[in-house]
Amino acid sequence: MPVHRERTDPVRTPEGLTLVHRRWLLPDDAGRPIALQQLARLWRGLGDLAAIDPAAEVTLERLSLPPSGELLQQEMPALASAGALLASTGSATLLTQVVWPAEEGLRDPYAQEGEPDPPGFRDYTLYAVDHARFLLVPLVPEELVCGACGARVKPALARFGEAALFDRAATCSACGAVRDPARDRARLRSGAIFLLEELVCRAALSIELPRAPAAEELPDAAVAELLREALGSYDELSDDGVPPAE
Ligand SMILES: [Zn+2]
Repeated sequence: MPVHRERTDPVRTPEGLTLVHRRWLLPDDAGRPIALQQLARLWRGLGDLAAIDPAAEVTLERLSLPPSGELLQQEMPALASAGALLASTGSATLLTQVVWPAEEGLRDPYAQEGEPDPPGFRDYTLYAVDHARFLLVPLVPEELVCGACGARVKPALARFGEAALFDRAATCSACGAVRDPARDRARLRSGAIFLLEELVCRAALSIELPRAPAAEELPDAAVAELLREALGSYDELSDDGVPPAE
């Protein structure tokens, strides 16, 4: 079965733009080591729980780090994709599959009283960054505030999927200080300001939905347990009113 990328019933703005809701599930400690084996188990586990369709294709994207060469993009059976993650040392990798829980008899981790909430597609994307110098930035900041000199700059971060990559070797263009996630701050599109270390991670699962689900925290105990086994204690970040993944 080919991978569908079309969306059903997303929100349309008066300007005709299609917007969706995205939830990011990421470790609450950016320093926690996360082995590719743990992430492969998480992806397989999502198939075992029938959140993703283990019988359908998955798209893999892989970028060698530091980013310079071509982005590898490949479709493969879901079962093989977990194994392909294990071969992603030194790279940024994502696995993604779009499903329709109601139509395909799959599990919706945001279901309310057994009904998908909201109705429509789920786009599951698992991100892994396996490199000492790079971290994933799920919510791409509009501005970085240097902790050393206070300069505010629009960050030039390499994009990867719907996220970006943070290079620990990057320096402030104003003062030359090496960017420090424990000291630098980031302003998001929403206007909220976070310490950069609260926004970076080595791995994350994003779940894209047509609209925000009623539950602020993942209500599905089995999927939540799977996430805790792979990521440890995790945070959930919402990104509402965003363009759907390409
Ligand atoms: Zn600076």
